[in-house]
Amino acid sequence: MSDPVHAVLIGGPGLILTPTAAIADAAGKADALSRPERIAVLVVAGLLLTGLYLLACAVWPYANCDRCDGSGKSRSPSGKKFRNCPRCKGAGRRERLGRRLLNHTNKTR
Ligand SMILES: [Zn+2]
Repeated sequence: MSDPVHAVLIGGPGLILTPTAAIADAAGKADALSRPERIAVLVVAGLLLTGLYLLACAVWPYANCDRCDGSGKSRSPSGKKFRNCPRCKGAGRRERLGRRLLNHTNKTR
């Protein structure tokens, strides 16, 4: 009775039960994660996302101006005449919040 075929046949029902047992085990492990550990995981995830955002703000520091949507123009009611957008002064762009934070921290250091 020690040949592999019999071992598989005997283990058959056990193999069918294994996935559900594994899921139950994983759920048990998730519950086993204590409250400080969960908070630590959330904090690390938050720091990681913040780091990625700041990195993106370092590479792409500008976004379209909110007032003129990047055109840099403030149109007359007819739409034919325009002046420079008062918010971005015709540049059509604004500095992203993350970039302003980076500039601020670089200046104070
Ligand atoms: Zn503008």
